[in-house]
Amino acid sequence: MPANPLILPVALWCALAPVPQAEEPEAGREYLLERIGDAAVVQIYADGFEGLPLEEKLLAWHLYQAALAGRDIYYDQRSAHALEMRAVLEAVLTHGAHVEADTLAEIRRYTKLFWINSGPYNHLTARKFVLECPPDAFLAAVNAAAEDGAEFPTGPGESLDAMVGRLGPMFFDPAFEPIVTNKSPGPGGDILLDSANNLYVDVSSKDLAGFEEAYPLNSRLVKRPDGTLVEEPYRIGGRYSEQIRRIIEHLKDASAVAPGPTAEALLALVTYYESGTVEDRKAYDIAWVRDADASVDTINGFTEVYMDARGVKGSWESAVFYVNEEKTADIKKIAAEAQWFEDRMPWAPDYRKPDVQGITANAIEVVIETGDCGPVTPIGINLPNDQEVREQYGSKSVSLSNVIEAYAESTPTAFHAEFSWTGEEAARAEEWGGLSKELLVNMHEVIGHASGRVSDALEGQPQDAIKEYYSALEEGRADLIALYFMADPRLAELGLVAAEDQPEMARAAFEDYTRNALVQLRRVPEGAQIEEDHMRNRQMVVRWLIDNTEAIEVRERDGKTYYVMVDPEAFRAGVGTLLAEVQRIKSEGDYAAAKALFDTYGITFDPDLRDQVVSRVEALDLPSYTGFVMPRLEPEYGDDGEIVDVAISYPRDLEAQMLEYSSFGSE
Ligand SMILES: [Zn+2]
Repeated sequence: MPANPLILPVALWCALAPVPQAEEPEAGREYLLERIGDAAVVQIYADGFEGLPLEEKLLAWHLYQAALAGRDIYYDQRSAHALEMRAVLEAVLTHGAHVEADTLAEIRRYTKLFWINSGPYNHLTARKFVLECPPDAFLAAVNAAAEDGAEFPTGPGESLDAMVGRLGPMFFDPAFEPIVTNKSPGPGGDILLDSANNLYVDVSSKDLAGFEEAYPLNSRLVKRPDGTLVEEPYRIGGRYSEQIRRIIEHLKDASAVAPGPTAEALLALVTYYESGTVEDRKAYDIAWVRDADASVDTINGFTEVYMDARGVKGSWESAVFYVNEEKTADIKKIAAEAQWFEDRMPWAPDYRKPDVQGITANAIEVVIETGDCGPVTPIGINLPNDQEVREQYGSKSVSLSNVIEAYAESTPTAFHAEFSWTGEEAARAEEWGGLSKELLVNMHEVIGHASGRVSDALEGQPQDAIKEYYSALEEGRADLIALYFMADPRLAELGLVAAEDQPEMARAAFEDYTRNALVQLRRVPEGAQIEEDHMRNRQMVVRWLIDNTEAIEVRERDGKTYYVMVDPEAFRAGVGTLLAEVQRIKSEGDYAAAKALFDTYGITFDPDLRDQVVSRVEALDLPSYTGFVMPRLEPEYGDDGEIVDVAISYPRDLEAQMLEYSSFGSE
């Protein structure tokens, strides 16, 4: 599961000191490249890559190509129209010499958002964004590009006019297929029919009663006109066969240069891509977890389930990364104490693991992320998601060091003062934000998701029982664990924070978390409900604390609202109480309690309050989210055609990188 940076307390990013690296980041490096509306475009740097042994660079190079080979799968999963739309947009941009200037500028703005979000839906709000030029100006642009030699994805016998007309509602009409994932469609709605993604075709939730999927994570479900349900597995010979075939080629090349346990995991992944079966997926998960000491590692496949309103279908993603040894040493201190923390979880002893196993945690440097984790990326990842594999074999957890660094380096510092009640609070955020954020993320991933066991009485996995509330509940659980131990003296004993500083640092962490529940509302510019699971969990936690403890006061001053954390001890005690209940809900698969918790505290909000927050943020002109430009790898060949080195460079140009990626996909 990913720790999503987009809804982390923003004040924490602002206060982050530069993250120390094995090699110090170069002074004057360019991080923030440009702003596109409310999105920032930021370059990631991967220090230390040059110093890796050649065989590790070669391994990264093959995995990098496997990451690119699957990129189009995710576009297609997000919208059945996305790849055609992208082809049209890229054809115009690359043949724009005779396109009218204002129209070209608008197409470029829209296309950059399209690339950042891997399609026409905003990654956070799930809502569609549209082209803001007149449709006839767009058609003229397409025709001008065609005259300059651009090729377009017209159907057989289809004219350019007809093609633009066919795709027009997707490009221009915000009410046509408006939401990619709609978990709360309202009365009479259906979570599947009202979600525009391509994981289901004409399938409603009711159609699934009594239907058992053979490939729950990796298939599309299609309802035929005669009413029969067909499952289309993602595998060789199935859906996405062509992309998967190319992924497999690169994985095989990678396995040939990988150390033993990594090669074993990669070949297990190949087997899984070939068959698509649950059995082979489990075998791969286990092989991947067992490869705990990999220096260069990858995630590649149908992984997270947030895009599916049912929380079952996996979105394709890939990440390629290597370990940052220095920062990893700090995380290992927490991982080594997993049992100590588990024994002190503030929930029923029956739901503690007697032996927390196989927890590994690495600080990593990202080389490339595609699909569901790039250009918009998490800052921490813990996998696999299979609860049985996790309980038997453990999991692997990573903290994305160079992503966290790029966030910190690219975010302006004008933020916490606006939402802090006092100057002292803002100063605390400034001073302790960096350390408290790092500890929160590490504990969320390492001891958060890895902890707890389900009731013996529960049949199946908790996500099957808790359904559409599961992801938000699980993210809430991991956040609560991190918050709960933030003030625990054990952190100081482990040397992760100085004992005399810990009370101030913990207070800053509680204050940031509290403010964030207010500040994050700016990310839902329309409507009055939250869709994104991490945002739901954070609102749920803070609003529950407001209603059930004395820890947080809601105050007004000069027409502005503030969430003020006033009592750290009450805050921690309340977090413990809520955490015990959240763990009980997960362990027992208590759907009704999960629903009540989120329906009461986590989903709806006051739109007037949101409007107030938006106007306060607009005055500061800060981005709402960030798309990252990845490092670029290029092999260098010797006289005999062998690869003798792999060079890394930083394009600092979203458009150039996205066009290069797309041309790779069509090779
Ligand atoms: Zn998480």
